[in-house]
Amino acid sequence: MSSTPNEAAPHGAPASPIAVRVQAIESLLIAKGYVDPAAIENLLDTYEHRIGPRNGARVVARAWTDPEFDRWLDRDATAAIASMGYTGRQGEHMVVVRNTPMVHNLVVCTLCSCYPWPVLGLPPVWYKSAPYRARAVADPRGVLAEFGVDLPDHVEIRVWDSTAEIRYLVLPMRPEGTEGWDAEALAELVGRDAMVGTAVVGLPAGEPA
Ligand code: FE
Repeated sequence: MSSTPNEAAPHGAPASPIAVRVQAIESLLIAKGYVDPAAIENLLDTYEHRIGPRNGARVVARAWTDPEFDRWLDRDATAAIASMGYTGRQGEHMVVVRNTPMVHNLVVCTLCSCYPWPVLGLPPVWYKSAPYRARAVADPRGVLAEFGVDLPDHVEIRVWDSTAEIRYLVLPMRPEGTEGWDAEALAELVGRDAMVGTAVVGLPAGEPA
């Protein structure tokens, strides 16, 4: 099966030996009939395909268009996000970090691959890679440049290292030229990377600014 057991491992768990053990245990449990492989497949499919960054994009677009909701995100992001139906594993303690003209936020998990599943789905390969995890902290500006994000020198970059409980969601800046857009149209602009902090939100090419 196409499972990736290390993604279910708790924060701080060494990936490879654990992954091997999980796979071995999973095979045994299936062989003995204790777990249903279809149920496991369904769980993975849910987070890989059905829950994806569109959830997070709807949260961002709502924050841009609903000041009450925007303030709620600051007070209690977990509850605000849950009110839109986005709850569950790896989203129990959400914190929203806000980009401004002076501050850009970048999220990493230096120990493993902690990631807010209910709003972003499963993490991309680069997020779990050792180079990203090390360099996001040591050289965030360099990492951002590799992602094509060149920030002016006066913009402070804040790096948020996920902990055992907290999952961060970056609230990107709303692009100029979107005044009057509704939340649905705005959500279309918001990609996964912008909510991790490795991208900024812009208008699609060809859109009049
Ligand atoms: Fe982690």
